[in-house]
Amino acid sequence: MPELRMDPIRHRTVIIAVERARRPKDYQIPEEERHLHVCPFCYGNEDKTPPEVFAIRPPGSLPNTPGWSVRVTPNKYPALRIEGELQREGVGIFDRMAGIGAHEVVIENPDHDRSLADLSVEEIRDVLLAYRERIRDLRQDKRFRYILVFKNHRAAAGASISHSHSQIIATPVTPFIVIQELKTAQEHYLKKERCIFCDIIKQELAIGKRVVKADSDYMLWTPFASSFPFETWLFPLKHRHDFALLADDELLVLARALKDMLLRIKLTLNDPPYNFVLHTCPSLTPRPGKPHYWGTIEYDYHWHIELIPRLTRIAGFEWGTGFYINPTPPEVAAEELRNIRIKL
Ligand SMILES: [Zn+2]
Ligand SMILES: [Zn+2]
Repeated sequence: MPELRMDPIRHRTVIIAVERARRPKDYQIPEEERHLHVCPFCYGNEDKTPPEVFAIRPPGSLPNTPGWSVRVTPNKYPALRIEGELQREGVGIFDRMAGIGAHEVVIENPDHDRSLADLSVEEIRDVLLAYRERIRDLRQDKRFRYILVFKNHRAAAGASISHSHSQIIATPVTPFIVIQELKTAQEHYLKKERCIFCDIIKQELAIGKRVVKADSDYMLWTPFASSFPFETWLFPLKHRHDFALLADDELLVLARALKDMLLRIKLTLNDPPYNFVLHTCPSLTPRPGKPHYWGTIEYDYHWHIELIPRLTRIAGFEWGTGFYINPTPPEVAAEELRNIRIKL
């Protein structure tokens, strides 16, 4: 009998096929995408992207020339536009606003053929440093409410260029999925004076069967109500609401945990397409008339990374109900991910 599981954070219902547990070999991975003739993210093609907004370069290296180790540029085809006013207005019963925001590309490494999982821990630390610096900078813009860092790995997960990169989108409203998480965390805190994420960490560490790996800094686990097969979340054990507060040495520790996560996914599922998102607190710019909008966030929210390998398709049933059909129970996924041998 499949199980219906309710996700306490996202308020989502998931159907998990407990008995018909699909294993890694049961999933087919689409072929790799074609390579572009001229890759705009390789050395020597810096003029093929908009001018960089951040880069890690040796002393004396000029902007928009080769020599960088991580490079961030505005997206050439942005989903949202940086210039303009928000122009909030009502149109009959509807509300509209301009599509203002920032859309940036983080080119993770100059090497065309190395994916994020293949980079060294130090190189991954530099990518995380780029995320942190761009979040801090974009938060200065009072129009932006939320800064989302995410990654699409391979074409089937939405990457249009195969050279490894992540993306950052700043939005003028806090995204619905994030609002749900934030509100749930806030309600839990107001009722219990505890962080719901810390509560879950404590329980999962005690139960153990969904924990892939835990050390003194991070817990890698497959959520109880995983919507997707091999969905994996990385939680820092130390309660903190904001990723952007991490110090350089803490980014190095996170880089190690992230590499561990990416390698386990890569080796268990034969380098599947995947998406990951970094969920951190929203912009805390004071808002007129709402002095306590995120007043308890420091205590109630807990930043984390969510990863979904793209092994199944979302179809009409998921779309129509918000129920997800997950053919691999998270307990089975955790076991597979736990047992794979990796070398950091
Ligand atoms: Zn390239
Ligand atoms: Zn917490």
